[in-house]
Amino acid sequence: MATVSLRQEATELLQELIRVETVNPPGNETRAAELLREYLGDHGVESAMYAKVPERANLVARIPGNGTGPRLVLLSHTDTVLADPAEWELDPWSGELREGQIWGRGALDMKGQVAASAVAIASLAREGFEPGGDLIFAACADEEVGAGFGLQWLCQEHPEAVRSEYCVNEGAGDRLVLGGRVFYVCSTAEKMSSPFRIRVHGRSGHASRPAIADNALVKAAPLVELLGRFQDTPELGPEVEAFLRAVTGGVPAPDRAVEAAREVHLLAGDLIEPLLGTSVSPTQIVASRGRNVIPALCEVTVDCRILPERTQAEVEAQLRELLGDSDLDFEWLEGHGGTRSPLDTPLWDAVEAFVADTEPGAQVVPLLLSGFTDSHWLRDAFGTVAYGFFPMRTMEPELAARLVHSADERIEVEDLELGVRFLRHAAVEVGSLPSSP
Ligand SMILES: [Zn+2]
Repeated sequence: MATVSLRQEATELLQELIRVETVNPPGNETRAAELLREYLGDHGVESAMYAKVPERANLVARIPGNGTGPRLVLLSHTDTVLADPAEWELDPWSGELREGQIWGRGALDMKGQVAASAVAIASLAREGFEPGGDLIFAACADEEVGAGFGLQWLCQEHPEAVRSEYCVNEGAGDRLVLGGRVFYVCSTAEKMSSPFRIRVHGRSGHASRPAIADNALVKAAPLVELLGRFQDTPELGPEVEAFLRAVTGGVPAPDRAVEAAREVHLLAGDLIEPLLGTSVSPTQIVASRGRNVIPALCEVTVDCRILPERTQAEVEAQLRELLGDSDLDFEWLEGHGGTRSPLDTPLWDAVEAFVADTEPGAQVVPLLLSGFTDSHWLRDAFGTVAYGFFPMRTMEPELAARLVHSADERIEVEDLELGVRFLRHAAVEVGSLPSSP
């Protein structure tokens, strides 16, 4: 085999992955899993497919440990959101390399990290790496929709494939310059995605005679306004507290937190603002199906994100009080996530050591995510310490945030290579730990 640099190897693998279209739905992730299985096999890494249905396989590969240390999983997902070629400057499935950037759907979210993880484990295998615990590569299906084909299913049906003490996943890695200092963000917790629906009842009637009916839509209107204005009592969890201590040099009172962060940089304030409490956003409303029929029922669907360790019951009590004793039903539609990993772990030390080495003077800060990643399934199933970290030094974080799930998604080759280096570093550090925590 010809010698190629890790940079070249990751670039080519990412290009191939982008060219395998895996828009979810329908996903068709098996094509990406097959490509990865072949690549890993060429480098001596055995892997296995786990699939609920044949076309939606998860791929799990490992370098077996000698049994003396904790396991680390490099976690990723192979599905992507859709792309409308008309919006794009280049074909979203071209994988074209242009001026140091690889273009295509999934380049940032998250085929770049899939490729970097695969190259990290393949290159370590070639070098004869012998970790204390298994080094696991898991490229899962169905993260973007979460219809039960991906990691959730894998944790239920094949837990031994992905059981691990540590995990590196997507979620963060942005390089922020705040108040003249450099910070790299590592996500260690997630809010619970917990949408709910309220049903407001009235009495139907002919729309030409409003007085004889009881219009559920009109009754719902003030409730929608109340929900839209909802402001939770601010609270600093451990992640936001550590973030503020690093960025502002102290821990402000919760009701001054956003202001204190903004004094350092506007972005710092924006980052923490949704992380101080429950967020509530009414997004959908359904009432009468006929223009001339006054609705007896109005349904309002509300996006809601709850802090880790708070329960739906606590939030429901709070919201029922807000809405008063209106004639309504309250229903939670789901509750996913809301888990956290501790900050004082060897994996955190590995992230810090990498950043200190890569950019002396830069500091790692933890972050709670307002969104949802697959890390939650591992934390719930095995108590895994799962962090989201894929360092990005070359592309500006504002640009990356605009490109994810949008047109012209692309990744800097520099960042891809940095990611490979970080994942190899994490694998070596965790692989040399003496025993499971
Ligand atoms: Zn993703």
